[in-house]
Amino acid sequence: MAFKDVAGNEGVKRILRLALERGRVPNSLIFCGPEGVGKSALALTLAKALNCRAQAADACDDCPSCRAIDAGTHPDVMTLTVEVQKVKAEQAALVKQMACLRPMTGRKRVFIIDDAKDMSAEAANSLLKVLEEPPSFLHLILVTDSPHLLLPTIRSRCGVLAFSPIGREVIERALAGRDFTPEQARILALLVDGNFDRARELVWEEVQALRESAWTLFDAVSADDRPSRFLERFGAVPKSAQEELGRVLEIFASFARDLLLLRLGGQPALLLNPDLEDRLRQAAPAWTAARLLDLLADLDTLLVQLEGNMNKSLLATTFFSDFMELRHA
Ligand SMILES: [Zn+2]
Repeated sequence: MAFKDVAGNEGVKRILRLALERGRVPNSLIFCGPEGVGKSALALTLAKALNCRAQAADACDDCPSCRAIDAGTHPDVMTLTVEVQKVKAEQAALVKQMACLRPMTGRKRVFIIDDAKDMSAEAANSLLKVLEEPPSFLHLILVTDSPHLLLPTIRSRCGVLAFSPIGREVIERALAGRDFTPEQARILALLVDGNFDRARELVWEEVQALRESAWTLFDAVSADDRPSRFLERFGAVPKSAQEELGRVLEIFASFARDLLLLRLGGQPALLLNPDLEDRLRQAAPAWTAARLLDLLADLDTLLVQLEGNMNKSLLATTFFSDFMELRHA
């Protein structure tokens, strides 16, 4: 991938290209930001650009160097991933030894350390020695979603580039360019919440099944019925959907936003679930705008709680009974 092929994060890409053009790429960099926003892809692109034989400030994807890096066979470019939780001490020792060797075939030696926060203390200390005085031909790129978990002594020796979630429109465009219809792309882009890697893994049929489960549950909330009905239905949805409660709730929130749009007389063209317009119109009369806003607020709270890895069915139960109380208050 050349820089233009990595989606989103235009600011980060601009900084890197400028640094490449001026031959001033920092020797130690931290790429940090949420999961799935292209940090590792951009680290590899940078490694290619630093070594590309055809271009000075980008990767051509075609020269022997770019090809070898893509194939994982370039002797001077190494990605250390966390194999068993920790970057192994011997890997770090290897980095330390190799760091001082001149590149074998390329111009620059590039080490990418993925999930750098999981480095063992031993590995981190070994790395620190390299960071203290990196040779000019060496580039270290630490990739992490939790930069605060890195040793402060490591952080302070690196240039930090912060990545952001990828914009919904960018993901939508990228998905529409693949096997998805524009309508599907729009729905999927909404669900992945800026995580481009997740977007690439999605299979439309699976997402559809999840949306069906979500609708079943949503219908139970819409119906002014006894709370146990929601729980019966929650118990009846496939295990996979229970496991993915977070995603089901994101879908839930998209239903609520669509209903709000319909209640307020908004443009149907703006629906997040355009394929469900008929169902949504049928459900709309059961809701007031105020109740939909309550629901959206509750869902936000619940999604935050879910990230804390709490018991999922317990959370679902509490959510529903709280919500029923709100409605009948
Ligand atoms: Zn090249």
